Amino acid sequence: MKVETLRDLYVDVLKDLYDAENKIVKALPKLAKAASSAELQQGFQEHLEQSKGHVERLEEVFQDLGVPAKRKKCKAIEDLLEEGKELMEANSHSEVLDAGLIAAAQKVEHYEIASYGSARTYAELLGEDQAVALLEQTLEEEKQTDEKLSQLATSQIDIEPKDTVAGQRESIARKHPAVRAGAQGTK
Ligand code: FE
Ligand code: FE
Repeated sequence: MKVETLRDLYVDVLKDLYDAENKIVKALPKLAKAASSAELQQGFQEHLEQSKGHVERLEEVFQDLGVPAKRKKCKAIEDLLEEGKELMEANSHSEVLDAGLIAAAQKVEHYEIASYGSARTYAELLGEDQAVALLEQTLEEEKQTDEKLSQLATSQIDIEPKDTVAGQRESIARKHPAVRAGAQGTK
């Protein structure tokens, strides 16, 4: 499809998002299954339900526009989800994996926030008022999800002290009292 007018660009971003959301709906149950923290599992589950709504809202936007709802392969989300999959394959259930899953999910959210922000602006410029309201609603939900993930990253992820640099220094200092003074000095 040629992208020459603002309307073409608008349809292009909608098709990209439509593919992205469908891929996200497919991936979220796997993320939920891989998460250790009950709150993170629940967070992914809730966002799965929200994302199904995002697919429906996009279908409504296409309908208002009189354009068939079609997917255009979103390579960026495909790759971000692939990275998440690699992470799950390389790590067993752990809080460290949870931290990685949160980071992977936030990258997806940031992509969505950027794309919905653009789509909403195009809809505004094109005078598509109904679409502006629908895209705005989804944009707000993506932002809230991103914030929730940030909160979970700090409140839920209780990484073992041995996994932190300070913790490693501590355990070395415990095993080798001679370096204790040095370890404390660098704190
Ligand atoms: Fe979404
Ligand atoms: Fe999302």
